Amino acid sequence: MNPVNNDRRRLVQAFGVSALFSLPGATLAAPKKNAGKIIGKVVVIGAGFGGATAAKYLRKWSEGTIDVTVIERNREFISCPASNEVLGGNRDFKTLIQSYDGLKKNWGVKLVHASVIAVDKEKRVVKTDTGAEFPYDRLVVAPGFDFNWGGIAGYDEKARETILHAWKGGPQTVALRKQLEDLPDGGTYVLSVPKAPYRCPPGPYERASQVAFYFRQHKPKSKVLILDANDKVQSKEKLFLNIWATDYKDIIDYRPKWDVVALDAATKTVTSELGEKITADVLNILPPMRAADIARHIGLVNVNDRWCDVKWVTLESTAVKNVHVIGDALQAAPLMPKSAHMANQHGKAVAAAILEILSGREPQPTLMANTCYSLVDDKRAIHVTSVHRYNAEKKVPLVVEGSGGVSAAPSVEEGLYTRSWAQTIWNDVLG
Ligand SMILES: Cc1cc2nc3c(=O)[nH]c(=O)nc-3n(C[C@H](O)[C@H](O)[C@H](O)COP(=O)(O)OP(=O)(O)OC[C@H]3O[C@@H](n4cnc5c(N)ncnc54)[C@H](O)[C@@H]3O)c2cc1C
Repeated sequence: MNPVNNDRRRLVQAFGVSALFSLPGATLAAPKKNAGKIIGKVVVIGAGFGGATAAKYLRKWSEGTIDVTVIERNREFISCPASNEVLGGNRDFKTLIQSYDGLKKNWGVKLVHASVIAVDKEKRVVKTDTGAEFPYDRLVVAPGFDFNWGGIAGYDEKARETILHAWKGGPQTVALRKQLEDLPDGGTYVLSVPKAPYRCPPGPYERASQVAFYFRQHKPKSKVLILDANDKVQSKEKLFLNIWATDYKDIIDYRPKWDVVALDAATKTVTSELGEKITADVLNILPPMRAADIARHIGLVNVNDRWCDVKWVTLESTAVKNVHVIGDALQAAPLMPKSAHMANQHGKAVAAAILEILSGREPQPTLMANTCYSLVDDKRAIHVTSVHRYNAEKKVPLVVEGSGGVSAAPSVEEGLYTRSWAQTIWNDVLG
């Protein structure tokens, strides 16, 4: 028996994998050359917050005895968290771009840049668009989300060239910022919010605040109009409503129960379910979301034709054996947000579970926690936190009573925490 593994296992059982997040890296051994001893092969689809975390921690905690290949179509990691600051003029886009080198150099993860197009579930082989094939003992699927484009009539491929979402890390963030810069003073920016669940519950409201901050300084006659398909603000409700009523009083107009069902790209006009029409100068549409295409293709989507259900101790799919799903693609547990923080926790939970399975031991449930910060101007932020513990009877993690909560008010201190949270999670996922 390896005493290091035993200690780590006890720690995971006692406190959940999240406890390991806080341990200094030096106490957890980097992968050793185990003279070729390999206990299993894992392939990971997607090197975003969930997949990259799973890959790194599989290598780290198995001390190099699990062979890990990650297949990711993008060459660079571009963060969604902190991207709203770019829209507010408070961050340089380049700071969102992170390198994948650490995964390869520090942890021996094999990184392949290609798109996964199919999985042979019988033979346990992943196939990419380059014609390559990757066999696995366990497959981790972490592809994030894709849009349900059909949910908004008129949002066809042509319309997507000018009407942006900027809801995936990448060039659309820069393009949307340019549209805001080009907007004349007195113009209207319209942001639509889809019905929950969607990626990052507070994200649209943070975005609206960032854009309002920019307008207040540079285009004070301009307006931000939030058209929310939901009944109310989905996260940190009172805090956002207070900030909008004070700091952005004559700038932000919030309209709940306003579901965009159609758009006309030429006139930048949206139509609601009730037939009401609104015309924007800059139109930023977030269509309804669902698990990414590849999850559907593999047959993992089994909740409302949108999300992937899992067994919560191992995060193994309830639809396909030996395949685990993490991150935004999941049918989340009650009150569990689709966030980078949560995807990072899923990544650690699945790494711990797969290590136990491949070592012939019984996987244990792990505690998970989430913090979502939102910057409401250039300096001040607010947060919401929650802790999720597995309930053996209901077979799902539930929020621990009395855990978590929200900020009392926006503060500069939390602004500093927000920026260090981003740096810390990028380091934890990729470094
Ligand atoms: C504006 C905005 C702000 C946000 N702010 C925060 C925040 O402050 N805090 C927070 O916790 N969360 C935040 N989020 C949410 C966070 O970005 C997501 O929840 C997180 O990225 C989910 O991680 P994931 O691994 O599931 O998906 P992703 O990070 O999207 O990773 C999925 C990866 O899979 C790859 N992929 C998909 N299909 C294939 C395929 N077929 N073959 C190969 N590769 C594939 C993609 O290229 C991608 O790199 C924010 C999101 C947005 C949009």
